[in-house]
Amino acid sequence: MKRNYDKYSFATRAVHTGNDVDAETGAIRRPITMANSYELPYDPTDMNWSGAAANLYTRNGGSNQQYLQEKIASLEGGEDCIALASGVAALSGLFFSMLKTGDHVVFANVTYIAAYRLLNELLNNKFGVETTIVDATDAGNIKAAMRPNTRLVHVESPGNPTLSIVDIAAAADVAHEGGALLSVDNTFASPFNQRPIELGADFVIESMTKYINGHGDAMGGAIIGRREHLDVIRAQAQINLGGTISPFNAWLIMRGCVTLPLRMKQHNESALAIARWLETRPEVRFVSYPGLESHPGHEVAKRQMSPGFGGVISFGLNADHDGHNRFVSRLRVITSAVSLGHDESLIVFIGEDDERQYLYPEQFHGGFFRFSVGLEDTADIIADIEQAFDK
Ligand SMILES: *Cc1c(COP(=O)(O)O)cnc(C)c1O
Repeated sequence: MKRNYDKYSFATRAVHTGNDVDAETGAIRRPITMANSYELPYDPTDMNWSGAAANLYTRNGGSNQQYLQEKIASLEGGEDCIALASGVAALSGLFFSMLKTGDHVVFANVTYIAAYRLLNELLNNKFGVETTIVDATDAGNIKAAMRPNTRLVHVESPGNPTLSIVDIAAAADVAHEGGALLSVDNTFASPFNQRPIELGADFVIESMTKYINGHGDAMGGAIIGRREHLDVIRAQAQINLGGTISPFNAWLIMRGCVTLPLRMKQHNESALAIARWLETRPEVRFVSYPGLESHPGHEVAKRQMSPGFGGVISFGLNADHDGHNRFVSRLRVITSAVSLGHDESLIVFIGEDDERQYLYPEQFHGGFFRFSVGLEDTADIIADIEQAFDK
C-alpha cells in the first residue's frame, strides 16, 4: 500500500515522498521506466491524446516524472508540480501558457538571463506581450508599474546573479491587489531555505539542475502551484510545447534530492563563513550575500529564508578585468564554470561590459564573480581563494 508522508518534516519527506515499494518486484526503490509508450485499453478511440491523466505516452506523463512531481510539490508546499526538461522549460512553459498578446508582465531587474530574453525579447517583440522591468527590491516599484492588463509579476529571490532580495509577501500583496499572479524563481534558495507559496506566491519556478539535483549531472525544471493553473500549463507547456524531462533525469534528480536538506545545511554554513571571510580581505571590493548584515536585503531575507541563505555569493575584487581572470586561473579547488548548486564549487566572472550591467546596482558595474560554494571542506575553499590572492 502506498504510504503517505504529508505529516512528516521536510527531511523525512525529502527521503520518502514519491518513492514506494515497486509492486512488481518488491524492490524498495521504484524503477526507472525508460519507455515512451504505455499499453492502450481495449478501445482506445475515446482517449484524450492530449491529456495528462493516464499513462499514455511519456510526453504526456511518465511514471518517473510523476514520482518526482510528488516529491517537489511536497517540499515546496504546493498543490501540484510539473517537472520539465530544464529550468528554462519551466520558465517558458509558465510564460507561454499564462500570457497572451496584450497582457502585461512586470518583472525584476535581476533575473536569470533566459527569463530576461523570454520576456524582454521574445514575448514582447514577437508576441505582443507588454513588459516592464522594475527594481523589485522595493515592492513600491512593482506597485507603480502595475497596469489594468498586468497578468503576471515575475521575480527571483535571491536573484541571479547579484543576490538581490525581493520581499515575496509584499510582492504577492501588490500583484494580487492589481489582479495579477506572482511567480517566484526559487532556484538560489531551494525549498529547504524558502517556500514562496507559503509567502503568498502563486507559482514557484525551480531549476532542478541546481540544488535540487545537486550533483551537476542532470538538467530539470519545475513549476509548482495550484492545480487549476497547473492543469492548463501541463496541457499547453508539457504536452504541446514538449519540454518533457527524460525518465532517467527525473530519476537522477529524485535521487539527488534525497540529500537536499543535508547538502543545503552545509552550503548555508560554508557560504556564510566564506562571505564573512571575504569581507575582511583587502583584495575584495564588495561581497553580496543575503546572510551578511551588510546586505541591503538582510532583514527581509531573515524574515523569509530559514534556516539559511543558500550557497551563492557574488563579489568583486579591487582589480581590473584581467586581474579578475588571473585570480580565477590560479584557483585549484574551485572550478571556473557556469551553473551553481553543484557538489563542487563553481565560479563565473561576469565582466564590466555585460549587457545587463545597467540593471544592477552600481557596485556590480566593475565586473564581479558569481560564486557557488560547494561541499568541499570550508577551510580548503578559503585556502584556495587565499593562495590565488597571494600569487
Ligand atoms: C539556472 C537557472 C535557471 C535555468 O535553469 P536550467 O536548468 O539551466 O534551464 C533559471 N533560474 C535560475 C535562477 C537559474 O539559476
